[in-house]
Amino acid sequence: MSNVEYGLVMQELERGDSGLRSFCSVQGALVMYPIHEFGTEEQKQRWLPEMAAGRRLGCFGLTEPGFGSNPSGMTTRAVRDGDHWVINGEKTWITSGTIADVAVVWARTDDGIRGFLVEKGTPGFTSSDIHGKLSMRASVTSSLAFADCRVPASAMLPGAKGLRSALACLTQARYGIAWGVIGAAMDCFETARQYTIDRKQFDDRPIASHQLVQEKLANMITEITKAQALTIHAGRLKDQGKLEAAHVSMIKRNNVAIALDVARDARDLLGGNGIIDDYPIFRHMCNLETVKTYEGTDHIHTLVIGERVTGIPAYR
Ligand SMILES: Cc1cc2nc3c(=O)[nH]c(=O)nc-3n(C[C@H](O)[C@H](O)[C@H](O)COP(=O)(O)OP(=O)(O)OC[C@H]3O[C@@H](n4cnc5c(N)ncnc54)[C@H](O)[C@@H]3O)c2cc1C
Repeated sequence: MSNVEYGLVMQELERGDSGLRSFCSVQGALVMYPIHEFGTEEQKQRWLPEMAAGRRLGCFGLTEPGFGSNPSGMTTRAVRDGDHWVINGEKTWITSGTIADVAVVWARTDDGIRGFLVEKGTPGFTSSDIHGKLSMRASVTSSLAFADCRVPASAMLPGAKGLRSALACLTQARYGIAWGVIGAAMDCFETARQYTIDRKQFDDRPIASHQLVQEKLANMITEITKAQALTIHAGRLKDQGKLEAAHVSMIKRNNVAIALDVARDARDLLGGNGIIDDYPIFRHMCNLETVKTYEGTDHIHTLVIGERVTGIPAYR
């Protein structure tokens, strides 16, 4: 195993598939985390062992048709009615929405934004899939609708109070995404490195023997290595309990950006072969376009970092 092949910092980093990463981060960070962190003992016992074993699936319902980057404007509402909550509203772009056994749903109440566990089959809760995606095609993406959907009072996650709790789940998922996209970049780099050694043009010489090609490869491995170094540092801060949301914004934003650049350069180095599915590059490129948007867009993470260093929020 050469250093070049496996990156210069993290030799054991898995090859990331952003479609799979999307699914895992939703199930782990966005569904199991809120139940683990904010749920009752009964909710934990009911869902977590089954989810950990892969027998039950969940989804995370925050985004709404009119509120993506700004979830604080959400209009989904939950109103207390005796021993129940009645939920009305709509969520969209929800990963695994139609196949999930339970949805973590964020809704506005008289007591601020709260989280609820809404089980599949609950009257008033319906879901449908979004079709025509050219990215993240291996994962199901759905819309959820709630029309006078009654859930028992025990469906509320008691520890989830305010948008801050929903954002805490996103911070967990974004940390995982920051690693996953490096894996995608490594796969693109390694594919391009090998291809340029094997592919011959002009006097039967490998295209990797040209300085312009080597410059691209040198830039790619340098950016990957910088992302690895930044992210392992963030991981160490996480271990010490010192990782801030702005740190996570930095690694998510940086790593997605470099992974997209690496994927595009790798696509270029494979010439025509870069666009076919015999190679993983175009799939990574298309998936990374989604990763740039979900879990906080590149712009929003820029603004989070900007606020952290100036103290001035610039979202509005
Ligand atoms: C495949 C996929 C899976 C997803 N899975 C989930 C899921 O499981 N659960 C969930 O809740 N959501 C999920 N999402 C939704 C995702 O989080 C949102 O798409 C994302 O937050 C962006 O929201 P939006 O699409 O409404 O874009 P918008 O918010 O409309 O943004 C459009 C553009 O405007 C820019 N913009 C907006 N506001 C500002 C501003 N203040 N300053 C500068 N630029 C700004 C954005 O950066 C972006 O470039 C998923 C999305 C996709 C594509």
